[in-house]
Amino acid sequence: MSPQALPDYPTGTSLKPWKTVNVSSGVKRISNPIREILAGIDLSAPVAQGPKQLVNLGLGDPSVFGNHAPAPESIAAIEESLKSGRSLGYPESVGYADAREAVANYFDEGPNGNWRVTKNDVVMTHGASGALEMAISVLADETKNVLFPRPLFTAYETMSAISRCEIRYYDLLPEQDWEVDLAHLESLIDENTAFVMLNNPSNPCGSNWSEKHLRDIAALMAKHQTLVITDEVYAGLAWDVTGPRPAAADAPRVEGKFNRGVFTPYASICGPSPCLVVGAVSKRWLAPGWRLGWVIVHDPLGVLAEVRGGLAKWAFRIQGPNSTMQRALPAILANTPERFYLDTMAELKRTGEALYDRLERIPGLTPRRPQGAMYLCCQYSGLDLEDDKAFVTAFYDEERVFILPGAAFRLDGYIRFVTTTPLPVLMDACDRLEAFCKRHVKSA
Ligand SMILES: *Cc1c(COP(=O)(O)O)cnc(C)c1O
Repeated sequence: MSPQALPDYPTGTSLKPWKTVNVSSGVKRISNPIREILAGIDLSAPVAQGPKQLVNLGLGDPSVFGNHAPAPESIAAIEESLKSGRSLGYPESVGYADAREAVANYFDEGPNGNWRVTKNDVVMTHGASGALEMAISVLADETKNVLFPRPLFTAYETMSAISRCEIRYYDLLPEQDWEVDLAHLESLIDENTAFVMLNNPSNPCGSNWSEKHLRDIAALMAKHQTLVITDEVYAGLAWDVTGPRPAAADAPRVEGKFNRGVFTPYASICGPSPCLVVGAVSKRWLAPGWRLGWVIVHDPLGVLAEVRGGLAKWAFRIQGPNSTMQRALPAILANTPERFYLDTMAELKRTGEALYDRLERIPGLTPRRPQGAMYLCCQYSGLDLEDDKAFVTAFYDEERVFILPGAAFRLDGYIRFVTTTPLPVLMDACDRLEAFCKRHVKSA
């Protein structure tokens, strides 16, 4: 192949050869564990001849299979926003006042509640990712440590790279429905801890902590006066809890906009202790592509004044998320009917439980029963596979099913399922998984 002809330099300029351009040291520190794990697996390779259709169960994106559509009310709200002509200009960098007010009204528990929110507590962001990046960057630097759960949504690591903070991991306990190992968490806290990250309901665990467990965590945070960032992008998407099952779990409802009695917002039980709450329309409203999220400051004691200023400064860098979505948000939050949330939840529960029951019958697999969010983690043992990366690579090569290894979440010896997948697709994948596991039983 002949090289393409290059355009001429402007006359008179130096013809010194160009050197390759380097990136900043900050950006070099950014890693993406999932990307690195997948390096050896080519999902774009042509599907092998044969009856087996490729199934990709890797992506935690509820829109990929087309079985979970956003509410028509949301679509109408975005159309209206476009047509109104009110979403053409720059928003305020922290977000339009009406978008922030809509978020505040959505989460505010009223005069008799524990969690009061006003529009001044809200900063609009580019999805939950933008909210997390903002919160982490405003709080952490090279003199600080930050505490993440293990297993975790590894994007937390990716977003911490620029700030050079030290990452410490506190364990979640699989035998206790992924509750926090409180003694372990406590042992990691010191005077340089910038924050503890909570994620409830959890990606990748599919767990939903009980109110009691959240109160135990909050008591520990109060004891050490440790700030919390709580990633509640799955707020309300839960049908069961860790520990004893509450009566409310048998009668899903969406009271106070959440399945209260089942899902507990951290800010509603942490008392006067401060926290930053991260949310987005991505998961509960089933449209991650809309890229709209928020940070809510919960600060009854007024100790986060500087942090509020920091969030506003950070927001100033990119002038807020896009105006069309911000203008649509009040109508999305006000008009989405309760039925939509209940239907989504019922479908996730049905799929999650059917998947759990099916996996339990496969020798060598120990699934963990999902209680919320869109995931199920499954442990395996007694197979002739070196680690979970070898597991998913062999499974993909032999059965054409792609699934994320636990290593993508710092959870060795597990695989993670996405429960927004249509049930027949999951059941087909399970049949192939059963055949795969049988073939790979470790010989004695
Ligand atoms: C999907 C996800 C996010 C990112 O949400 P976006 O709004 O799409 O940026 C954040 N945290 C967790 C735990 C997630 O699963």
